Amino acid sequence: MFKQTVDFIKTQFPFQEFIPLHEPRFIGNEKKYVIDCIDSTFVSSVGKYVDDFEKKIVEYTGAKYAVACVNGTAALHMAMIVSGVKKNEIVITQPLSFIATCNAIAYIGAAHLFVDVDLDTMGLSPEKLQHYLSENAIKKVDGFTYHKTTKQKIAAVIPMHTFGHPARVDELVSICANYNIALIEDAAESIGSFYKGKHTGTFGCVGTFSFNGNKTITSGGGGAIITNDETLAKRAKYLTTQAKVPHRWDFVHDEIGYNYRMPNINAALMCAQLEQLNYFLENKRTLANQYKDFFKDKEIKFVEEPKDSKSNYWLCAILLADKKMRDEFLQFSNDSGVMTRPVWRLMNKLEMFKDAMCGNLDNAQQLEDRLVNIPSSVRI
Ligand SMILES: *Cc1c(COP(=O)(O)O)cnc(C)c1O
Repeated sequence: MFKQTVDFIKTQFPFQEFIPLHEPRFIGNEKKYVIDCIDSTFVSSVGKYVDDFEKKIVEYTGAKYAVACVNGTAALHMAMIVSGVKKNEIVITQPLSFIATCNAIAYIGAAHLFVDVDLDTMGLSPEKLQHYLSENAIKKVDGFTYHKTTKQKIAAVIPMHTFGHPARVDELVSICANYNIALIEDAAESIGSFYKGKHTGTFGCVGTFSFNGNKTITSGGGGAIITNDETLAKRAKYLTTQAKVPHRWDFVHDEIGYNYRMPNINAALMCAQLEQLNYFLENKRTLANQYKDFFKDKEIKFVEEPKDSKSNYWLCAILLADKKMRDEFLQFSNDSGVMTRPVWRLMNKLEMFKDAMCGNLDNAQQLEDRLVNIPSSVRI
C-alpha cells in the first residue's frame, strides 16, 4: 500500500526525481517587479510596493487595514502587543502548531496555556475552550477573565488555521466575546482560505499571515497583520516602523519601537505572487481532489477541508492508522525520493514549554501520532 501511494504521488509530479513538500513558484511578474524595485533604489523600508501590497491584501481578504511585516513571527508578536497582551498574562493557544506561535507569546513574557484542537479542522476547539474556561476561569468585576488557580488575566486566545484548513472561528469569536478575551488568528498558513465565506484572519481583532518561502505565496520572508480596527492598524504601523513621530525632517521617536517593516524589495516579489494567488489556489485544489479520489476507500485517509470552509490546501495531509504505521510510511516515502513529514512535535512537549498549563489534549496527540504531510506544490 505504501508503494502504491508513493507511486501515485510520483505520477502527480512526473518530472522530478526528488519531490519536495512545497516549493515556491515564480512564474509571473516576479523578476519584472524586483528589477523595477532595484532600479528605483527604493529597496528598503519605504516604497510603492509596500503600499501596493498592503492595498492588495485589504482587497483580497476584505479586512479594512493591512500592515506589512518582515515575517509572520514578527506579525504575531506585534498582533499581541497591539491587542494589549502583557507580561505574565495568559495566552491560550493550540499545542499543534508551528513553534513561531509559541515563540511570539514568549517574546511578550506571557504564559502559555494549551487547549486541544478539533480532529476535523486541526484548529483550536471551541468545545474544549469553552469547557476549559467554564472549569478554570472566572470573570471579575473589572470585566476581564482570570485563571482561578494562578489568578493571572487570560489576555488572548490564538487559534491557528492548520495547513490552511479554517478553525471553527465564529464559535471562538463568541466564546472570546463572552469572556472579554482578545482573539488573534494565526492565519500564517491560510492565505486564500475562507470560513463561511469570510477570509481567515478577519474574524478576530487581529489576524496575521506569513509569506515565508514554504507558504502558498512568498516574498522570500514576509508577513502581514490585518484588522478592521483603525486604532490597532495605526498603532501596528507606527510600532513596526521604530515608533517615529511623523515629520518631514525631524527624527523623534516617542516609544520603544520595532524594525518589523517588510522591505520594499520583498513587497515587490509579493505583489507579483498575489497576482498568481487565485491560479495557485485552483491548481492546489485540483491536486487535493486527485489525492482525495486516490485515497477514497483506502486504509490511509486523506484530510479534507472541513465543513463550511474553503481551504487553500497549503499542505495536503493524510492520516495513518497509528504511530507505527506513520513511521514506516515516513521511512518508505523519504527513502523513495518523496518528501513527507510528520506534524510538529506538540508544543507542550518541548523543553521550553513543558511546564505550561494544559487542558486535555487527546485530539492533538492523536494527530501527532498519525498525521503526515505529503507533497503539495503548485504544479507547472
Ligand atoms: C510559518 C508560520 C509562522 C511564522 O512565519 P515566519 O514568516 O516564518 O516567521 C507562524 N505560525 C505558523 C503556524 C506558521 O506556519
